[in-house]
Amino acid sequence: MFACARRNDVVSLSLACIKVRSAGGISRGFRVIVCRACEDPPCAKVCPEDALTLRKGGGVTLIPELCIGCGLCRQACVVGAIHWDRRINKPLICIHCGTCAQHCPYGVLGLVRNDRPGALAAAPSRKAIHDPG
Ligand code: SF4
Ligand code: SF4
Repeated sequence: MFACARRNDVVSLSLACIKVRSAGGISRGFRVIVCRACEDPPCAKVCPEDALTLRKGGGVTLIPELCIGCGLCRQACVVGAIHWDRRINKPLICIHCGTCAQHCPYGVLGLVRNDRPGALAAAPSRKAIHDPG
């Protein structure tokens, strides 16, 4: 999370595009909430200003000048992966740069191309792979 936030020259967990949450108790561990780079992103479909453009390889890119901060994309995200920049009242959108995967010391995260039609991009088992393709 710090690695992601530092990409924007800030040290604030609230400004990271990736979050780690409890899965519901110590025995259940934690879950990572991050954009899965949908091929047909519902977040972009609901945007009334076309402020989210489809990104090659999946996911979306935010055009900040068009965004009115309505929050509809946040509600539409299938995995709850759109976080919010309260400073400017706009969504924090993952750009799939792979910085988080590069800095994960446990190999939990990976950035991989998933060529299966309609599939969500998934992390590999225990080994981080940096292949933004
Ligand atoms: S918050 Fe911005 S990007 Fe999201 S749906 Fe509204 S206008 Fe579009
Ligand atoms: S922000 Fe959510 S809905 Fe949009 S591409 Fe990423 S995972 Fe899919």
